[in-house]
Amino acid sequence: MDKSPDLLETLSLARDFLAREIPGPIARAKADEQGDDPLAVLGAEACACQKCGLAQTRMSVVFGSGRADANLVFVGEAPGAEEDRQGVPFVGAAGQLLTRMIEAMGLVREDVYIANIVKCRPPNNRDPKPDEIAACRPYLERQLDLIAPVVICTLGRFAAQTLLQTTEAIGRLRGRVFDRYGAKVVPTYHPAALLRNPQWKRPTWEDLKLVRKLCDGTEI
Ligand code: SF4
Repeated sequence: MDKSPDLLETLSLARDFLAREIPGPIARAKADEQGDDPLAVLGAEACACQKCGLAQTRMSVVFGSGRADANLVFVGEAPGAEEDRQGVPFVGAAGQLLTRMIEAMGLVREDVYIANIVKCRPPNNRDPKPDEIAACRPYLERQLDLIAPVVICTLGRFAAQTLLQTTEAIGRLRGRVFDRYGAKVVPTYHPAALLRNPQWKRPTWEDLKLVRKLCDGTEI
């Protein structure tokens, strides 16, 4: 079919408008066309997201960071104030402890992927509400699908209970191995909880040793 330059320009403008307004399928179509990284396209889609009320109060959408083909993914609860400011997960005091934990495992942050259950900061760091989790969960599930990690290490009660669909206490969940999302899921304590409860550092270290061994057989 012969398309005039005007018509092509109109179609291109319409597609860009739709990509902003209904980013999912259009963004994927653009990714296919341009050979883009699908994880980056999903991140761009999340950055325009208005699917729950947290969009009204956030400064940044904190989608996730790290290797797109990581063997190990850490999943926390939600961004805090510093993460909201920088748009990067786990960069506050708890994040610095997580970085040291990763290094103690013989890895660096760039080796792994880090994300949260919800991508926008709940005001005053309250727990995310069920409707916010339901709205945001597909992003995490698609992230996990694209990254296809060997191990998912959940950080804290909230991430473990949400990903495992359980109400069991973190003290009973931690250190165990669950088969979910095509990976081994190992819950452990949240670094923020370790800052308040240093006696939990020892069991957390045992969990991290298990995580590393499940990832690639390395004993630490
Ligand atoms: S928390 Fe998730 S669902 Fe809600 S606006 Fe942010 S990205 Fe969208």
